[in-house]
Amino acid sequence: MFPRWIRRGESDLVTARNKTHGKDSEIPSACFGKTMLQVLLVVFWGLLVLHLVSLTSTLSIRQLVVSSSLAVRGITADEVDNIQPQTNEAVGGLTEDLVPPREADKTLGGLTEEFVAQGEADNTLGGLLLSPELFEDSRCISRSREYQLRKPSTFKPSPYLISKLRDYERRHLKCAHEAKKFSPQTNATEQDFGGCRFIVWMAISGLGNRIMTLTSAFVYALLTNRVLIVDRGLGTDELFCEPFPSTSWLLPESFPNEWMNNLGSNSTSKFGFLARNFTFTSSHNGYSYIDIMHSSDKDDTKFFCANCPSYLSSFPWLFMRSNQYFLPGLHLVPEFHDELDKMFPERQTVFHHIVRYLMHPSDAVWGLISSFYETHLANSQHKVGLQIRVLSDDPALLEVFPDLVLKCAQEKKLLPDVALNTNNSAVGNQISNSVSVLVASLRVVFYNRIRELYLNHPTTDGQQVGVYTASHDEVQFLNFLSHDMKALADMYLLSFSDTLVTTSWSTFGYVAQGISGVNPWILTKFDTTDTVPEYIKNYGICNRGISIDPCFHNTPQMDCENRGWTTDPGKMLPYIQHCEDVPWGIKIMDPATGGH
Ligand code: GDP
Repeated sequence: MFPRWIRRGESDLVTARNKTHGKDSEIPSACFGKTMLQVLLVVFWGLLVLHLVSLTSTLSIRQLVVSSSLAVRGITADEVDNIQPQTNEAVGGLTEDLVPPREADKTLGGLTEEFVAQGEADNTLGGLLLSPELFEDSRCISRSREYQLRKPSTFKPSPYLISKLRDYERRHLKCAHEAKKFSPQTNATEQDFGGCRFIVWMAISGLGNRIMTLTSAFVYALLTNRVLIVDRGLGTDELFCEPFPSTSWLLPESFPNEWMNNLGSNSTSKFGFLARNFTFTSSHNGYSYIDIMHSSDKDDTKFFCANCPSYLSSFPWLFMRSNQYFLPGLHLVPEFHDELDKMFPERQTVFHHIVRYLMHPSDAVWGLISSFYETHLANSQHKVGLQIRVLSDDPALLEVFPDLVLKCAQEKKLLPDVALNTNNSAVGNQISNSVSVLVASLRVVFYNRIRELYLNHPTTDGQQVGVYTASHDEVQFLNFLSHDMKALADMYLLSFSDTLVTTSWSTFGYVAQGISGVNPWILTKFDTTDTVPEYIKNYGICNRGISIDPCFHNTPQMDCENRGWTTDPGKMLPYIQHCEDVPWGIKIMDPATGGH
């Protein structure tokens, strides 16, 4: 079948031909044999008209191709500012008609062939993803293009994980439409929904947190044979492609959203209340609200206790609100051990595989990523990503932070040293484009400082360092689509790095490290300028991560047996350890590698 834009061009041509035929047919048949000259004249004019028409049509097709290609390539951060969440049909100037379908897109979503990694890239990532051709919706360029730009991951998905994902896709296809039947008033059972059970992910917090909790909820769905449905809030639809073929992961439009948004820490259906005495026989309305927030109490965290999966299996609907990467906590549930082991024999790869499977930037975001990548990063031999987030209220810390980042990068030999006493114009013959540095931060001050350093001074080893930043909104906004699009673009751009420096405590950096599979250098958390010297002495300026998996900040303090005491989850299993950056948090690591 022809791509749609060619069909549109063709139909113009067909219309023009019909018109010409119409003219031909106006020649009265009685006159047809009158003179040969008349016939020749008619044929001549007919051919001329046909030629002109086909020329015009070809031009219009070409114009369409050029403009569509530009539309995909050329979305700038400024243009993105004007995009509002409602513009679903024409995101960033990309209308359905203008986006060239996969087969016709020779620009690789904004990237020319030379920027594509050499060799045949496996666009299924070793079977993790379905082949992009199986998706009917052609509006997801990243699905087929992103991994042509990446170096292949050193981690391979297990055959068991792959089979679980294929089962999941079938389940989602079978069940998603059953979600329309939900009503909070009826005391429904699984049978009322065609034998399907659901977990609804409710959107909350910054983008990094959202990606962490979405992946956690998806793994929970895999482990409990549920279907993951996502709340339409905070622009999930505009930021990401649909991950499953021929179906949708969005809550049905008719869903009682207002009712759902009222679910909260005081709801009587909250799992923590139901589980307080672990009365597994308690009656319910067919749904429960799961609260895994930084503020969750010890009853809420019984979610991670033995027997909880069988208790919750009687609820066809779970509504979950979380701002925590709770995946490491699922390891604490004995019923999940075997499945998690089989799915993720390399334990630290849970988030790495699942985020790559589940999250694909929408075309509008991919436009930002690919055009920046092509312009600034593609040609460098080594890519360094610096993710800088100042979470302290001390304004003086902002002043010293750029130097702390540079000190880490130079001390650990992540960036070349500079000859401070030499002016850059004094040296020539530097190797071109050796190192690109992407500075991802809300604040432009870091980029300015680092860029100036490499602009004004030569490197001691002759390497040329290019310093770039993709956006700097200065402050954090919530529920502002263009802001989130830039944030997502930054996370993905960081994830192309060979070397990563991230900020302690920041889920923004966790996402980049998880997608890339690169173990980052983590900056020590400094609270005030006064404490900087002492902290550097005690902890160093930055340290290598122990695993690529993110940190679960709010370690569950569950009292599973109501004995009034809890065990330290960081001591329960050898592959669950306390995090490098949040001492009481827990993360998954592979003991065999020691995390490195
Ligand atoms: P966390 O607060 O560091 O854990 O990360 P989150 O992603 O959950 O929330 C921070 C929010 O601030 C992001 O979602 C962005 O909206 C914004 N933000 C923080 N750092 C950056 C950055 O480097 N680039 C961009 N574009 N936005 C950022």
